Amino acid sequence: MFDPAQLLSDVFGFSEFRPGQAEIVEAVTAGENTLAIMPTGGGKSLCFQLPALARSGLTVVVSPLIALMRDQVRVLRAAGVEAGALTSGNTEEETDRVFSALHAGSLKLLYLAPERLATTATRDLLARANVSLIAVDEAHCVSQWGHDFRPDYLRIGDLRRSLDAPLAAFTATADEETRTEIINRLFDGQPPRTFLHGFDRPNLYLAFQVKNSPRKQILDYADARRGQSGIIYCGTRAKTEALARALDEDGHKACAYHGGMDAEDRRIVETRFSAEDGLIVAATVAFGMGVDKPDIRWVAHADLPKSIEAYYQEIGRAGRDGAPAETLTLYGPEDIRFRRQQIDEGLAPDDRKSADHARLNALLGLAEAIACRRRSLLVYFGDTQTACSGCDLCDKPPETFDATQSVRKALSAALRTDETFGAGHLIDILTGTKTDKIQSRGHDALPTFGIGTEFDRREWQSIFRQIMAHDLMRPDPSRHGALRMTQAARPILRDEASITLRKDTIEKGSRRPAVKMLVSEEDAPLLSALKAKRRALAEAARVPAYVIFTDKSLIEMAEQRPRTLDDFARTSGVGAKKLESFGSTFLAVITGEIAEEQHPMRRKLSGKPTGSLYDQLLEAQVQLQRGENGLEKPMSCSASMLAKLAQMRPENQSTIANVIGDKKAERFAAAFLRVLQDG
Ligand code: ADP
Ligand code: ZN
Repeated sequence: MFDPAQLLSDVFGFSEFRPGQAEIVEAVTAGENTLAIMPTGGGKSLCFQLPALARSGLTVVVSPLIALMRDQVRVLRAAGVEAGALTSGNTEEETDRVFSALHAGSLKLLYLAPERLATTATRDLLARANVSLIAVDEAHCVSQWGHDFRPDYLRIGDLRRSLDAPLAAFTATADEETRTEIINRLFDGQPPRTFLHGFDRPNLYLAFQVKNSPRKQILDYADARRGQSGIIYCGTRAKTEALARALDEDGHKACAYHGGMDAEDRRIVETRFSAEDGLIVAATVAFGMGVDKPDIRWVAHADLPKSIEAYYQEIGRAGRDGAPAETLTLYGPEDIRFRRQQIDEGLAPDDRKSADHARLNALLGLAEAIACRRRSLLVYFGDTQTACSGCDLCDKPPETFDATQSVRKALSAALRTDETFGAGHLIDILTGTKTDKIQSRGHDALPTFGIGTEFDRREWQSIFRQIMAHDLMRPDPSRHGALRMTQAARPILRDEASITLRKDTIEKGSRRPAVKMLVSEEDAPLLSALKAKRRALAEAARVPAYVIFTDKSLIEMAEQRPRTLDDFARTSGVGAKKLESFGSTFLAVITGEIAEEQHPMRRKLSGKPTGSLYDQLLEAQVQLQRGENGLEKPMSCSASMLAKLAQMRPENQSTIANVIGDKKAERFAAAFLRVLQDG
């Protein structure tokens, strides 16, 4: 009989279901129509892949993006599942393979782009293929309101009717409006079994910072995460390019991505990002749905996202493999102004605009939260779970103060000047600063002039930012950003409500940030050896590294150090097929049998600090073997050169060049120097 837990462990190598998965798998397997709303990274794919294996016949998966389908097919095939895709990106060989598996009746999952549904050829094909389940990924693409609308998704309803097969729809978009549209368009208005699954992503660390020197904040953040894959979301196309350049100069592998680039260039970035370890992409939100990489270790926002939903979706791309991942969002008053303006100048009807302001407010509330960020975020999504698994505010609670009087002073300064000025001028009034503008308008005669000298300019700026974030004042779009009081401020002005604000503490000192490690120092060398092995196998098979094993699996191997194949099989992500394909190879790395193959130069360094330095140099070298862009001629240094560097610890690039020669120095010296300085 069908035992989902057994299948989960045999095929996918997971010992337990993630929250929500088991119930969905059961309902889908039983042939019920279902709609599952799960956060990105919650493990949606498994909820139709397992039922596909458990049911007889073929499961058709409609998914919006070719790259995404191809990745899923690769992952499934690596796990020993008969899956295929029919997309315009197929080679003839791939298409032939799909057709022969279809005819033989051995194909279990067929991925289809929605465009395919428009052709009679596809419809005929499906009519004859014994389809027993239709799965729809990213089901919110049927929603005409959303920005991901795909007209061909509207054909799915017809498909369901004509095949008379159960349909399982999946999305990460929770709002009521979208849900109703999905039910109308995919299920003819007959509500399916609906699963709304908890929104917490416990492995994501949440943090916000006020911008003070934004570029440096981002570069430091990336610097502390060298070698880890990350995304930096930027508000403008120009910024993606500027940041990518700055990162590159800082010795990172980095590229820009935005909607203004031509399709081919974008595709190259997508492919590189999915295949390579440690690439940083500075992108606009155009870098979105197609990003299916499970081992993104961090996501940073160089600018404030447009709403709390967008924020949640964007940070959600990190850490889908379940291993720890980090997020940081920068924001400042300019961001608030920019986002408000975007909404005000948009073409949406008024009720839509006020909904958008409310979504932005929710995000700003999160940005200026004074207690646990995770809780603020989850409460918005209706999740009341309380335990926090990591956020900046729990780590370091902010200092707060009762700001009621200060806010009233700020409000009256604005009211006294007919709400026609921005924060800068209002601060001049409050602090009693006699600028030309103040004098020419006679504002030094106002009763509010100089009533706020208890704070300096910087402190007032922080208060005004928070006033805007709490939506007590809004920049007036028709008056060049003059600040206008909102209804929400009235109770404070009338002294009927009080308000607590944060004291901003500027982080002092700019030491180089310590590099964040995924495992303890003790396990780090083994983790890099495992990564090197994974990389070699991935390159040989021409697949992204995570198709072999995810970071999460490697981390577990490095920490648990299984000694036998039996132990190894218990590692998360190791199913029967992967055990057979890779078990003994990785086990050999772990038990050190590979040490036999170790270069004698390295063996001599065993157990000494120089040994680990050697390993790090080797790791740095492997990363650059084909150059920064991964396209150049392979090049490497001999073991004795590396050993010499580890022992000598040269302090500049020219000394390194003396050891390894100019040509190799050109490729490796900067990276080696970093290793030697950190080591
Ligand atoms: P999404 O919900 O965003 O589509 P995916 O289905 O791509 O997420 O799953 C994200 C990652 O989580 C994948 O790498 C997948 O292998 C992993 N995963 C899914 N279910 C489990 C589980 N029960 N245990 C461990 N890892 C899981
Ligand atoms: Zn917290």
